[in-house]
Amino acid sequence: MTLHEDDAIVLTRHAFRERDWVVVTLTRGAGQVRLMARRARSLRSGQAQALEPLAVVHLSYHERHGSELATLHEVSLLRSAFALAAMPEAWAAAQVVAELALLYCPQGQRAEEPFRLVDHCLQHLASGGGPLATVHYAELWFLRLSGVLPGLDRCGRCETVLAAGPLIFDSTERVCVCPEHRPLAGVVMLPDGAAAWLRQALRVRLEAVTVPAPPPVPAWLASLRHQFTERDLASLAYLHALLSH
Ligand SMILES: [Zn+2]
Repeated sequence: MTLHEDDAIVLTRHAFRERDWVVVTLTRGAGQVRLMARRARSLRSGQAQALEPLAVVHLSYHERHGSELATLHEVSLLRSAFALAAMPEAWAAAQVVAELALLYCPQGQRAEEPFRLVDHCLQHLASGGGPLATVHYAELWFLRLSGVLPGLDRCGRCETVLAAGPLIFDSTERVCVCPEHRPLAGVVMLPDGAAAWLRQALRVRLEAVTVPAPPPVPAWLASLRHQFTERDLASLAYLHALLSH
């Protein structure tokens, strides 16, 4: 058994047996780590609060070779999710960010940048940042960090620098193309405003992204996400329902 020590964000947790939690975390050093927290649900346990979803913690855990489930050793709270939990829309958006992290961050792969992205999104939401803008920014960056986002600067066929303005996406080859290489079918047009939002969100910090992505950007990002899963994000449907009231 190996003892690891790391910072982590609690993404989700499930009750297990009478007194245990199975906690899914995003760590800096090893990406997604699933932990068995024994007796953490008992009232005497000081671990219960530190293991609240969306809390940021410092923890140590034992990992057994060949096992997908590590065992929590110690945990201390760095930042509670209390502020987020008091704001229903921010909380719902944070759940989407957590679900995206579950999807995009595999186990056992260093995740320094995804960790910072999630941490930054949670802090932004807790300080009143726009829920949809944050969710769109998060998905864009998860796609970029996973190497799935096509380049927006050059034609994927001939490497010509693409002019500012609308983007032409070839959905068969999954690249942005110049007008000359526009295919006859399977094109997604990202009009001027959509392309401008994408280019800006890739250049600036989240705080500078003050509006949600215009259509068809969210649907386009979701179509890229479907390379990872065909499953829709349950938390995203909930956020939309909440915002439409
Ligand atoms: Zn071209």
